[in-house]
Amino acid sequence: MSDKPEKFIDENGLRLDGRRIDEIRPMKMEIGVLSRADGSCYLEWGKNKVLAAVYGPRELHPRRLQKADSVLIRYRYNMAAFSVEDRIRPGPSRRSIEISKVSREAFEPVVLTHLYPGAVIDVFAEVLQADAGTRTAAINAASVALADAGIPMKGLVSACAVGKVDGQLVLDLNKPEDNYGDADIPMAMTSDGEISLIQMDGDVTQEEFKQAIEMCKEGCRQILEIQKETLRNKFTKLDDVEISDDEEDVDVSALVESTLDSSEDEDDMEASAEQEEDETGIVEDEESESAPEDDEEEDPDSAESGSDLEDVEPVEDLEESFTDVDEEDVPEDEDDVENA
Ligand code: ADP
Repeated sequence: MSDKPEKFIDENGLRLDGRRIDEIRPMKMEIGVLSRADGSCYLEWGKNKVLAAVYGPRELHPRRLQKADSVLIRYRYNMAAFSVEDRIRPGPSRRSIEISKVSREAFEPVVLTHLYPGAVIDVFAEVLQADAGTRTAAINAASVALADAGIPMKGLVSACAVGKVDGQLVLDLNKPEDNYGDADIPMAMTSDGEISLIQMDGDVTQEEFKQAIEMCKEGCRQILEIQKETLRNKFTKLDDVEISDDEEDVDVSALVESTLDSSEDEDDMEASAEQEEDETGIVEDEESESAPEDDEEEDPDSAESGSDLEDVEPVEDLEESFTDVDEEDVPEDEDDVENA
């Protein structure tokens, strides 16, 4: 029998969890929670608990994946096996691969990718407890973790969903609304209101769709304030650090070189030196063609993150990975719950 509630909104206009239709769930964030990551953020949003970690920019191996004129952003969304009531089958699923792809794209308009040619930025979003809206929660946490890592961005990305229950649009769906509602529209926006992710499940009219975007803008505006406050709290503590007001004082190339040179991996450093010699800045492919396997062995993280993340990029590979997942990894019923 279905657990669908008879009514989602009561006569006072309040939802099952007591919120108004345009109110987001309580959200709190903490940054710098992982000492080994370059940037990190732990987020609680309603009953969702998400940890985001950012590593990089760092030299990308294997080198054949390097982009000559920009950094490669890899984003891995993952739900922990224990994050929902039933145990989730570990490893990438069709759903997590799709969410990783669209979430990575949500950051493309803001990250100044041209500053780190040949490098990679790895973003990991681990859902520890899931309760509807985890992809948007992960984006909110990842955005702050990227800022915590000092990745140059035009602004933060904020995300939340709008849905439809009892014929009304509601902001930031809770679990019953997500499960039994008529629509779910997750969105991500840059701080100047540009939509960088929009997905839709269910049906809404054209008019409702326009209203949903406006409603979501307001939700993202509130989330942006929480993100900024979280960052402000950290950086106002760094009183001793002298920051130049004059943007022209910043030597971008020195910044890039020092970031890449700071890699602890000796091979990374050698590779950086080779790149410096190349005045065009274009990374030669010869070496990767001659010994691609060697490169793969050099990546200390490849065993943990490389294999499934490499499937995400480029798009053609992604399509293949969908096919692979279809055939091998995902159970017939598309639900990755392990029926133990
Ligand atoms: P989002 O979490 O972004 O809203 P979905 O709409 O796909 O993504 O999922 C809604 C909710 O359903 C999740 O937040 C989670 O609580 C639950 N859920 C998703 N996938 C699974 C799964 N494989 N097993 C159990 N619950 C799941």
